[in-house]
Amino acid sequence: MRNSRVFARALGGQDMVVEDVSIEVETSRAKTPVSSEVLVFSVRPKASQTSRCSRCRRRCPGYDGGESSRRWRTLDVGATKAYLQAAAPRVQCSEHGVVVAHVPWARAGARHTWAFEDTCAWLAAHTALSVLTVLLRIAWRTVAAIVTRVVADGRDTNDLLVGLTRIGIDEISYRKGHRYLTVIVDHTTGRLVWAREGRNQDTLGAFFDQLGTQRAAQLSHVSCDGAEWIHAVVRARAPQALICLDPFHVVAWTLKALDKVRARTMTKAGVRDRHAMWATRKNPADLTGEQRSSLAAIADTNRALYRAYLLKEQLREVFRVKGRAGHQLLAGWLSWASHRRRHHHRQRPGFAIGFPARRQAAAVALPRAGLPWAVRCRHGSTLVAHHVHR
Ligand SMILES: [Zn+2]
Repeated sequence: MRNSRVFARALGGQDMVVEDVSIEVETSRAKTPVSSEVLVFSVRPKASQTSRCSRCRRRCPGYDGGESSRRWRTLDVGATKAYLQAAAPRVQCSEHGVVVAHVPWARAGARHTWAFEDTCAWLAAHTALSVLTVLLRIAWRTVAAIVTRVVADGRDTNDLLVGLTRIGIDEISYRKGHRYLTVIVDHTTGRLVWAREGRNQDTLGAFFDQLGTQRAAQLSHVSCDGAEWIHAVVRARAPQALICLDPFHVVAWTLKALDKVRARTMTKAGVRDRHAMWATRKNPADLTGEQRSSLAAIADTNRALYRAYLLKEQLREVFRVKGRAGHQLLAGWLSWASHRRRHHHRQRPGFAIGFPARRQAAAVALPRAGLPWAVRCRHGSTLVAHHVHR
């Protein structure tokens, strides 16, 4: 966001006139205050945008000068914090009474500009919290307020829940992991379309309530992490949608499954090998000499663990290779993994894995690892996993 093109749009393209620019020194309110230079742009709305109600945007008579002036944080200019500053007159709306006049660069009541808030909301849905707070230099408390306002605003002016087919469900934590926000992203447009505090079935249920059954029936793909509470709600409210799992999570699960196989087989055989965990977990290219020896010993003496290791490695390869070759590799992986499963006559809930195009599905679970698991992909290049119970 720190480039001149976006900056120009943020400052210029919004029915706004820039009258002056000044540099001020701002001192942060942190425990150890830091002073830095900030840019302050004095601006005013273009004539067509003045004397409008900030709630309904209707033209109405002026009331008074309001506060002398207000400031809105906007996107940085280069690496420098920037603010817009403007007079804050009030108007008398026939419907909304005496309200602060509309400004074209910010939402009513906001302390950040549209550009800043939209960027923040987008980042909240697409990046880690640490990245976002550092990038925008704001507190998580502020992010939560902004995301809520952006989403509420989107619903007022333009129903973001119309036409959704492929969505992502994410949870983001703030306040050191004590609070959570559930956010819904439209994969087609990349926009954040819904957010609410909380991360449980009720939170997600509220999204589906708002979406309604007709629109929920239009969902074809829902991506999410492995959280069972998400899967349960999606299965109940959009049973036709394929639940897609992020490769990152899938690989994390395979590592967990691998660890279980390692612990079980080595305990049973009474073998102690402190290199075994990393020998099996790490990329083959990154192994140390000792880990290499450990892996060689496993290949010789622990067939179950070595096969689990190879399954893990081949699955990583599936995610690396795309297109047709990826499909073939995946097909091979599926038959291998499901073959292992048939050996053990244990019924457990599992994931069906298959290509959406062919609607071919195979149940897969790492035997005895206790973890149903799956891989997924988007159209063509990845896998789709659909959680099934039987
Ligand atoms: Zn009004």
